[in-house]
Amino acid sequence: MKKTGFLYDERYLLHDTGPYHPEIPDRLQAIYQGISEAGLLDDLILIKASMPNVKWVEAVHDPEYIHRFEEVCFSGKKTFDYPDNQMCTETFETAMLAVGGILDTADRVMRGEIDNAFCAVRPPGHHAETDRALGFCYFNNVAICARYLTDKWQVKRVGIVDFDVHHGNGTQHIFEQDPKVFYYSIHEHPSFAYPGTGREFETGNSKGHGFTKNSPILPGQGDEEYKHLMERDLFPAFERFDPQVILVSAGFDAHMEDHLADMNLSTDGFSWIMERLVEMAEIYADGKIISVLEGGYNLDRLPELAKNHMEILLQK
Ligand SMILES: [Zn+2]
Repeated sequence: MKKTGFLYDERYLLHDTGPYHPEIPDRLQAIYQGISEAGLLDDLILIKASMPNVKWVEAVHDPEYIHRFEEVCFSGKKTFDYPDNQMCTETFETAMLAVGGILDTADRVMRGEIDNAFCAVRPPGHHAETDRALGFCYFNNVAICARYLTDKWQVKRVGIVDFDVHHGNGTQHIFEQDPKVFYYSIHEHPSFAYPGTGREFETGNSKGHGFTKNSPILPGQGDEEYKHLMERDLFPAFERFDPQVILVSAGFDAHMEDHLADMNLSTDGFSWIMERLVEMAEIYADGKIISVLEGGYNLDRLPELAKNHMEILLQK
């Protein structure tokens, strides 16, 4: 069995998006419940939220954006720039605590205290751009973690796999010129789904050309198409890139019973994906894989999806 970290904190529930929003605190509670009712908590190393050094947030986001986010938040406004970015006065601190918890988790993996981890945080991150909150995302958690690994821990090659049903526009744009970070995303085709980026021809640019790979999928497709595209696009790309650490943008909204998108991935399909990612981490990254929650909105399916995700990390 692996030494697996589980980042969870009740303070991640304090980001309140109001009564009509899909990205709600109940999602995290469903995830925690699935993991705890399966009896997995005793096997996990529990990690609590912490505040990050703001310089690591500034390594990805413009200082003026961070400042504006803080000011709008404390002003009591209910939205930030776009109507789907609902917020409350605790949103800024919650977003900071998510980043801090993830960086603490990354330190523990790099120090060898734990082998791998799942970070159940809110708000999610992969749509956040350097200077804009988008799609329920404020700070790009995974991007900040990748930058932290390259800059603080001198990791030369970080591989990011994003299986959220939506394309991680923010993560792609932040690293599209950077050959140290390979970004792979498999998502619903941008002609049909938010945010409208992530086409096959988007492959990075300048020094980062060839270090971005997108596998868009047409609506209605499921397990077989995911397997086919990951075998065709991701496996050979990571064989060439040879990541030293793998970060996962783990969104569970491609599930067939999740109604924020139109994919037909089954619960077993999610397990297949995560098993392959853990295998790749063993082959290339000495087992180092850190998974970070993005989307996933079906409260009835999240408990089992989170439980399976954890069991695969634990290799129980
Ligand atoms: Zn999503």
